[in-house]
Amino acid sequence: MSLPAESKIDVLIIGAGPAGLMMATWLARCGVGARIVDKRGTKIFNGQADGLQCRTLEIFDSLGFAHRAWRESNHLLEICLWNPDEHGRIRRSARIPDTIPGISRFQQVVLHQGRIERFLLDAVEEAGSDIRVERGVAPTSIDIDESRVDDDDAHPVTVRLRRLSEEEATPEQAAGSGDDGPPVQDGLFRSNLAPRDDADRLLTAAAAGTEEVVHARYVVGADGAHSWTRRQIGLELEGDSTDYIWGVLDMVPITDFPDIRMRCAIHSADAGSIMVIPRENKLVRLYIQLTTTERVGDEAARADRSKLSPRVILEAAQRIMAPYTISYRKLDWWTAYQIGQRVGTSFAVHDRVFLAGDAVHTHSPKAGQGMNVSMQDSFNLGWKMASVVKGQAHRCILKTYESERRQIAQDLIAFDHKFSRLFSGRPARDVMDTEGISMQEFKTAFEKGHMFASGIAVDYGSSVVVAKDDGHGRVVSDQSAAPHVPVGRRIPSVKVLNQADARPWHLHELLPSNGRWRVLLFPGDVTRDEQRQRLARVAAAFDDEASFLRRHTPVGGRCDDVFEVLTIHRAPRTQVTIFDFPPVLRPYDETDGWSYDRIFVDDVSYHEGHGEMYRAFGIAPAGCLMIVRPDQHVSYVGPLDDPAAVNDFFARFMTDQSRRGSVDSKTPMPAKC
Ligand code: FAD
Repeated sequence: MSLPAESKIDVLIIGAGPAGLMMATWLARCGVGARIVDKRGTKIFNGQADGLQCRTLEIFDSLGFAHRAWRESNHLLEICLWNPDEHGRIRRSARIPDTIPGISRFQQVVLHQGRIERFLLDAVEEAGSDIRVERGVAPTSIDIDESRVDDDDAHPVTVRLRRLSEEEATPEQAAGSGDDGPPVQDGLFRSNLAPRDDADRLLTAAAAGTEEVVHARYVVGADGAHSWTRRQIGLELEGDSTDYIWGVLDMVPITDFPDIRMRCAIHSADAGSIMVIPRENKLVRLYIQLTTTERVGDEAARADRSKLSPRVILEAAQRIMAPYTISYRKLDWWTAYQIGQRVGTSFAVHDRVFLAGDAVHTHSPKAGQGMNVSMQDSFNLGWKMASVVKGQAHRCILKTYESERRQIAQDLIAFDHKFSRLFSGRPARDVMDTEGISMQEFKTAFEKGHMFASGIAVDYGSSVVVAKDDGHGRVVSDQSAAPHVPVGRRIPSVKVLNQADARPWHLHELLPSNGRWRVLLFPGDVTRDEQRQRLARVAAAFDDEASFLRRHTPVGGRCDDVFEVLTIHRAPRTQVTIFDFPPVLRPYDETDGWSYDRIFVDDVSYHEGHGEMYRAFGIAPAGCLMIVRPDQHVSYVGPLDDPAAVNDFFARFMTDQSRRGSVDSKTPMPAKC
């Protein structure tokens, strides 16, 4: 018998759902060698998750495809809360905005998971990488050589992969067929209502049964709630299985309910509650939380899914929404599943094998968090892993993946726990009692939950990459330099003008996800002498031999390979030109000339108003300095007069490039590219 083929790769990703594909997208954009395998022969085409929170859309924008989601999706602007009046008849009791106004350029939208996977697949391809999902491939074993986990150059994780037959790569239909009318297939198969989108399905499994041994530096297990990787590396989820089963129906409704194109939470007097989510292509999704589990002896409660069908879910909806009527002729997808509220005890082993997405947290679908938080996990991990693999950063930054994302997962479970109770199938009561829930409490919790659910409130704690307190060396942020830009959160976005051509840009548009760190200089009004001198001192420090730019940029590379310095001043635009700014702030390229995209101004535009960034950020006339991570989270805020803090910050975790390889430590990195 012939031996299996062997190969080496920097990163192996197991699972090509939203979390795995987001990881692949980062690695492709950062030019890191990676492979991604999935046991299924196709991506999904409809059903499953659909909600996209505004932070996720900001992330998509940084990856270049938010416009596709924005155009194809249904936009959720208003939530209507319905509950019974004194006669027990449901009525609209409140309207609230779906996304808190002003927190983002984007608002919540819904679009099915299959399209999101398509956008990510296209983004991987467009990045020019040769990463492609290898479908119909599953791992059979994983071993970590513990003696080599601290060796930066080692490939200590060995994974054996097996190619599956077409039959093995075609999953069972989880939900079966409808019980009235023609059979309805579950979300793994093509939708009748969505455009054809199956270009990358597994066409042949000719090599079925063949095996390959892959030696990887890092492995990411993004293989969903029943994660094989998690079980193999001995990590567990802790938490509870809930008694709730969710029934989900995607249909084109025929109804006289007036708010069917609004997101609605409907609590009936005695028939339970339902969530209505209007979707793309005239679809509407109904979520019903059912309590039909049975405890068998000491066994945990298990859902009896055989009792659930589209008709059962529809009939529940009809009872809750009465006296309004609802039915359908077109049913696109349905499912019924029981969820646990669980978080992984750990998110990584030896910082060599990582888990992301549903593999490390599971919870109910009602706040539309599953796909969002899963992609945000690997959005957090991707740039860190890329910079370690490329030799730019020390492995210590990988520890911040668990410290940052596990906290988010725990917060999510706490949020979900509260929501599940409030959105149970129990009858509504206007006064809280043992049987029902208070509608006022529901509304308050809904509004409060909004900020959390948007993803904008994510606030990473102090670490080597977030300078909040002095637990990690000398660098401590001085939040008073920009009080409205909290360290640890994603930087807010307002408009600024390009100094060279007066075009308005949203700040986030200047921070695409390409793996680069940004140092933002806010020198204030540079027509004033003291501000010009301050700026000159910062620029001289950045140009110095000992500056972060020279120490951590690969010798021979472009000066903006790792860092981009962006200057946003507040002098009147027409009173200065880019040549009033030191050259290190607007680098020169022999072929392309000066950089015209590094100097910006907080001034009024001709057509799009005035962003008032200094006021929005709370920046005083003396100016300030900020460091922004490749994922747009703020690492450091401090006074303009302390450029040494920037050097000290990066020295904590970036490799000293002048000491790498045979390069003379005095070799200067050119200030002009
Ligand atoms: P997944 O999307 O589960 O992706 C995991 C991938 O790994 C899959 O492609 C799988 O084929 C692959 N894989 C698994 N095991 C292996 C292996 N051993 N080898 C190779 N590949 C493997 N969320 C909502 O918000 N609303 C909903 O209505 C909703 N409905 C859902 C219905 C169903 C039936 C399911 C399963 C999930 C639903 N979700 C819903 C949850 C949502 O889909 C997930 O939160 C989200 O997809 C998580 O992304 P992920 O990438 O972590 O995992």
